[in-house]
Amino acid sequence: MPSEQKFEPTDRPVYCTFCGRAAEEVQTLISAPFASAFICDICTANHIDLLRAHLPQFAKKKATRRSGLTTFTPRSIERALSEHVIEQDRAKKILAVSVYNHYKRIDAETVIGVEGFEDTEIEKSNILLLGPTGTGKTLLAQTLAKILDVPLAIADATTLTEAGYVGDDVESILSSLLQAADFDVARAERGIVYLDEVDKISRKSDSASITRDVSGEGVQQGLLKLLEGTIAGVPPKGGRKHPEQPLIHINTKHILFIGGGAFDGLDKIILKRLHQSPIGFGANIPSRVDEKAVDLFQYVEPEDLLKYGFIPELIGRFPVLAALNGLSREALLRVLTEPRNALVKQFRKLFAMEGVELEFERGALELMIDKAIERGSGARSLRSLMEETLMDVMFQLPENQHAEKVIITRDAVAGGEPTIILNERLAA
Ligand code: ADP
Repeated sequence: MPSEQKFEPTDRPVYCTFCGRAAEEVQTLISAPFASAFICDICTANHIDLLRAHLPQFAKKKATRRSGLTTFTPRSIERALSEHVIEQDRAKKILAVSVYNHYKRIDAETVIGVEGFEDTEIEKSNILLLGPTGTGKTLLAQTLAKILDVPLAIADATTLTEAGYVGDDVESILSSLLQAADFDVARAERGIVYLDEVDKISRKSDSASITRDVSGEGVQQGLLKLLEGTIAGVPPKGGRKHPEQPLIHINTKHILFIGGGAFDGLDKIILKRLHQSPIGFGANIPSRVDEKAVDLFQYVEPEDLLKYGFIPELIGRFPVLAALNGLSREALLRVLTEPRNALVKQFRKLFAMEGVELEFERGALELMIDKAIERGSGARSLRSLMEETLMDVMFQLPENQHAEKVIITRDAVAGGEPTIILNERLAA
């Protein structure tokens, strides 16, 4: 083994055999075991860089231990979210900051020691997204995972309710996270779990049945450990556990949980509290009683969730609350056309692959929005409306050699035929 040369000033002068620097000019000199040769720290560092550049086995490993957040700031996360998600500015900001802090917390615990704060543990900031259906809650979680390049599992909290027994379900969430991480446990342990419909596991959710209420609380209890951090045994390729099978152990301590729900009825609880609060408290509180439910969510406090039927421990595990607004007509129109993967863009691309231009009249998009509003599921129904409108034309188009352009009129959305423009030269 090479050994570090202890340099004595009275010794004969020692130089780095590679660069010729004298011992006094460098921090360390490593001596070769059986020859009078030395290498200094500067040359060693240079050679490591060379090896990294030329030999794959020395290439810097993709950051699995380190979160890799050095390239992100809350602002850059928020900007990237905005490329995909329309409006919801406040929620995006809250998410960006919490996610940034979440991965910083992981770094603080795993790779970077923060001097002077050795005894301070940063608590996990799981996030609860509150807002009507189809306003972008799932989309935000999906986009975050994509931006940060971390695996994502989407789970439905109501399935936990129905099974009654939590253990298996919790593991199935982790099993899909592991799958999303290509069975890389370290990656899975830094992933995101989006827990949809968490509002449905509240104690008094949409049923007077006592058994159901109890199971709601049971599920909440079962989730506590998972959210806080536990080591769960997951069957390697999903599926059920069986005794001989070795389990993969996943620590959930650094997994970020994002809960989402529409929280029907929570608005009334918030409003009641706001009206009971002392005069002068919070000048910007809405005064009109008929204020839309969606806007009230921005005033949510943990005590409202308690009244809604969540146990205090679970509320404590979701310290970050972010409200999403219902999408206005204008916002829905933007959803159709603006995001990077906007539906209009997606279908235009599909048609372009057939060599056909696809055009939407504004009236057509407006009627789609009317229909989406009628269906009452926010932007969620826009995709099926688009599919319904384009189905027939997509069925015929690949066989129509002369089509040059398809125009989707308002009438086409109402059930009529779209206008197909033929290339006159080809059709002649
Ligand atoms: P939910 O709030 O119910 O989780 P989703 O995020 O699943 O709603 O939204 C369903 C679909 O509607 C998304 O895949 C996306 O195409 C569209 N959508 C919803 N909200 C937005 C938004 N704010 N910006 C862009 N697209 C949206």
